[in-house]
Parts: sequence; structure tokens; C-alpha cells
Amino acid sequence: MKIAVLSRNSQLYSTRRLVEAIKAKGHEALVIDHLKCDLTIEETGPKVYYMGEELTDIDAVIPRIGASVTFYGTAVVRQFEMMGVFSATYSQSIVRSRDKLRSLQLLGGAGLPLPKTAFTNYSREDKSLLEHVGGAPVIIKLLEGTQGLGVVLAETRKAAQSVIEAFHGLKARIIVQEFIKEAKASDLRVFVVDGKVIGAMKRTGQEGEFRSNLHRGGKAEVVKLSRSEKSVAIKAANAMGLSVAGVDLLQSSRGPLILEVNSSPGLEGIERATGVDIAGNIIEYIERNQPKKKGTISKL
Ligand code: ADP
Ligand code: GLU
Repeated sequence: MKIAVLSRNSQLYSTRRLVEAIKAKGHEALVIDHLKCDLTIEETGPKVYYMGEELTDIDAVIPRIGASVTFYGTAVVRQFEMMGVFSATYSQSIVRSRDKLRSLQLLGGAGLPLPKTAFTNYSREDKSLLEHVGGAPVIIKLLEGTQGLGVVLAETRKAAQSVIEAFHGLKARIIVQEFIKEAKASDLRVFVVDGKVIGAMKRTGQEGEFRSNLHRGGKAEVVKLSRSEKSVAIKAANAMGLSVAGVDLLQSSRGPLILEVNSSPGLEGIERATGVDIAGNIIEYIERNQPKKKGTISKL
């Protein structure tokens, strides 16, 4: 097979590991910068040009689309899907995963456990909004944030009020969420491929930091999941329509709660913490699915 990794930078750990895994399994690998693709749409069929050359013989793509280029990146993935090229991640699932509110609605709608969350369009905090999520302390999140930026812990009602007012003053959309204190600044990153958990790590924030993101200086260690943690992670990936997903869970006193589901989860932290060949698992998933899906147009 000829498998393309859609990535802006061939030097990134995840991109390099995917290319290695493609080659190790005897396939041809190429890295395509999705922002350098031109798309043509006409009745003779959709086409993708890469730096002036038409791409005609790609069997599968692995999207690694950064949050800041979701619109163009997913248009490129959708174009490949229209051409009958198998994509390890559906364009539509990437779009969904980038909107925290839409994701929570989908997950909650599927009956999956989440921290209590409220969304409002009011410019001022009213009492009931905080009460909906159990009162202060609360977590306030920018809907479009990533890597822990735009996530604030408001310890008191007054603090929550000013943060909500400040974000709304900037016309930023936010969600307000119950603070899961017992998670103790840790979360679980569960890597799901093709409906199975293939690796999991526990991330813990630096001293004095409630966010556990590795980008915020968090530490990762391998972890053995409970049965319910595994089951919730798999169901979350399914609800989002993702065959490759990084599901983040909080360990609460009422069981695992889903924080978010990532559609381009990083490989570095999880491969280093677990020693699992995550990239190889993704290629094996493509090998199992590509032949039967080729020529059919994926769910749009
Ligand atoms: P991002 O997408 O920016 O990573 P998250 O929603 O994952 O945002 O939040 C970042 C971190 O903040 C999480 O990894 C977790 O450690 C902490 N966190 C987020 N929401 C909550 C919450 N409701 N209760 C406790 N901790 C939280
Ligand atoms: N992007 C996530 C973080 O900030 C995860 C990184 C990874 O999976 O390696 O923690």
C-alpha cells in the first residue's frame, strides 16, 4: 500500500513514528503537508494536487491535523474520502472533536459519564449557572482551547463571576464545569485503536497545577485501567466515530468521567510511557480495513 501521513512537519515525533511503522510493515510512506494541497471539484470527480502534481495512487491517509488548521485540513481529508481513499480518521469526526461543546453533547447523548457541564450565552454570570454544576469551585474552559490553555480553576463564586464576565467581554465562548477535586490534578490518557485500548498513561500536573497536560509540564506514567475505565474510553471513541482516539478521563468518586476525545492524539508521551508500538497498531488497523473500504465513500 501507499500510505500518506497528512502532517505539516515530517520531523514531529508522531509523524516520524508513523512513517517508520508504515515502512516497517512493507508499505510505501509519504508525508503530505495538507496546507500545500489544492483541491479541485468538478463533475469528473474530486482531485488533490500536491505542489502542482495530481495525487492518484494513494491507498490510505493518516490525518494529523492541528487544531489551528481544522477547516482546511478536514477539507483535504474529505476530498480524499470522496476519492475513495481510506482515511484512518473520518473528516467529520475530526470536525466534531474540535468543538468541546458538540463533543460533550454527543457523549452525553450516548449516555456516557461526564463532569456536569453548563453552557451559556449570557454576558453576566447568574446564580443558577454555577448551581447547575454544583457551585464553586468550578472549571471554566474556552470552547476552542487546547493543551490546557484556556482552562481556568475558579475557587470561589466571586472568582468564577469575574472570569466568566472577562471571557464574555472578549466574546469568547466558554463552558462551566464541576471541578473534580478527587482527580488530584491527574487524568488518564487512553489510546484507543479500532475499538480496543492499546495503551494508557496517567498524567499528573506539576506541584500547584491542576492541569495535567504534558505541555503544561505534567508527568506521565503507565497505568493499568479498571474495566469501567476501558469500557468508557472505547464507548467514547465509538460515539465520536473515531477509530484512532486519545480519550482523556478523570478518575472521580463516581467512576471515570470523560474530559475529551482527541482525534490527532500525540504518540510521543504514550509510546514513551508505555513502550507500546502505537504507530504500528494504527498501521495494522489500516491493513485490516483498507481493502474492503477502498472504492466506497466514507460517511460524510
Ligand atoms: P485541553 O483540551 O486544553 O487539554 P482539558 O479539558 O483537557 O483541556 O483540561 C486540561 C486539564 O485540566 C485536564 O487534563 C485536567 O487535568 C484538568 N481539568 C479539566 N477539566 C477538569 C475538571 N472538570 N475537573 C478537574 N480537573 C479538570
Ligand atoms: N497533547 C497532550 C498534552 O498536552 C498529550 C500529549 C501526548 O499525547 O503525547 O498533554
